[in-house]
Amino acid sequence: MNIGIIGGGVAGLTAAYELTRKGHKVSIFEASPYLGGQAATFEVGGGRLEKAYHHLFKSDTVIIDLINELGLGSKLYWLDSKVGFYCKERIHNFVTPFDLLKFTPISIVDRLRLGLVSLYLQRLNDWPKLEGITAKDWIIKYAGKQNYDMVWGPLLRGKFGDAAEEVGMVWFWGKIHLRFGSRGKTMQKEKLGYLMGSFGQVIDALEQEIRKRGGEIHISTPVQRIAVADGRVMGLELKASSNPVPFDAVIATVPSPIFLRLVPELPEQYASKLRQIKYQAAVLVVLLLKRSLSHIYWLNVSDRALPFLAAIEHTNYIGRSEYGGKHIVYLSNYLAREHPIYNKSGDELLQIYLPHLRKLNPEFSPDWIEKYYYHREDSAQPIITTNYSAKIPDYRTPIQGLYLANTTQIYPEDRGMNYSIRLGQRVSGIVAPGLER
Ligand SMILES: Cc1cc2nc3c(=O)[nH]c(=O)nc-3n(C[C@H](O)[C@H](O)[C@H](O)COP(=O)(O)OP(=O)(O)OC[C@H]3O[C@@H](n4cnc5c(N)ncnc54)[C@H](O)[C@@H]3O)c2cc1C
Repeated sequence: MNIGIIGGGVAGLTAAYELTRKGHKVSIFEASPYLGGQAATFEVGGGRLEKAYHHLFKSDTVIIDLINELGLGSKLYWLDSKVGFYCKERIHNFVTPFDLLKFTPISIVDRLRLGLVSLYLQRLNDWPKLEGITAKDWIIKYAGKQNYDMVWGPLLRGKFGDAAEEVGMVWFWGKIHLRFGSRGKTMQKEKLGYLMGSFGQVIDALEQEIRKRGGEIHISTPVQRIAVADGRVMGLELKASSNPVPFDAVIATVPSPIFLRLVPELPEQYASKLRQIKYQAAVLVVLLLKRSLSHIYWLNVSDRALPFLAAIEHTNYIGRSEYGGKHIVYLSNYLAREHPIYNKSGDELLQIYLPHLRKLNPEFSPDWIEKYYYHREDSAQPIITTNYSAKIPDYRTPIQGLYLANTTQIYPEDRGMNYSIRLGQRVSGIVAPGLER
């Protein structure tokens, strides 16, 4: 078969990798001048780093297998995660279960309640019974309002911004249930996985394998439209005026709003399903600092007076020798495109954020900043609402030969590279059955 793939992120590359393994002819079209999509990297301090912070959990077995298969296994390290919360004007460690007992912003009764409810969620396997309730309502009911306000609400906001209250409990269950697996048998410190030298090496290795097997990869080549005739996919239009490049089948791995624009012929029943699922954008300011901001890797910001939701000090996780001895901090926000922060330039955002960095470290001075970078991802996080399983669009669209594989189809787990790889594997198995893993 001759298959066209739209998008050179993790899902598109995996689909191409699988299909070329089966001997199919594949062409990837990627709009950006680089591959990797949301997992793309850039150069910083002489090292290579993800534009948005990335790590793995122990439960991410699909990507771990792929990393080994690509010969990169020796570069995958499991390191302590060092999580903290900023609230009540100071940083609180949240690294081991004992830190929970010392977490004074909530009462001792609530601390015990939080521990018990976490254990319950960790052991619960029957997630469908949580489908009808929002995470907010469930948490307040079982863990209490204080735990929602100070601990789990900020975690939800850290991922969904203002849409946090709409998020279904199943999403939250998935987060707790799977993350506990990263703590190991003794339930001590959480270990997170990182590929030394960046996850960009997975992207490079996939690219090499695809090309080696005759696959074509075209960067800086946005697809303008998916050509359809008589309810069947015909090919891809790359420039508004030119004839479509013909394909027997097309896999789109782009976010749903882009997919809807590419194929206006999509029957309403399927299109309305896609429109139902909204996304949050991610806005990131990455600071290259002379000094460390805190001792924490992942700092959740519970205090709503601060204009960012998390401060992720990558070099408290990965040694700074990888980046010319500099300290790297991501200041992260997830928000709707209507939010005033969405349209701010990197410079404007930095000016808004700067006064608040002293709250995290009273010694902080703007002259610690050697350089900063700004990245924005429009469709960073689908909002996973209640009863989501009924809302997931099929891989097979009603247009014959046209398939969709994007992050809205990841459930009940949280979206991540692991599951985009799984998407790529699954959709390739549907497009061209045989030799399944
Ligand atoms: C802030 C942030 C933090 C994250 N942290 C983690 C983490 O810690 N661990 C983890 O595992 N995952 C993390 N992720 C998620 C992970 O990066 C994504 O789930 C994964 O990379 C998505 O891959 P994808 O191929 O499904 O989609 P995408 O990466 O979105 O790929 C879609 C591709 O389609 C291209 N495209 C769009 N329009 C067109 C067009 N018209 N023509 C051609 N190409 C087009 C895009 O440029 C893009 O490259 C994070 C994501 C973000 C945003």
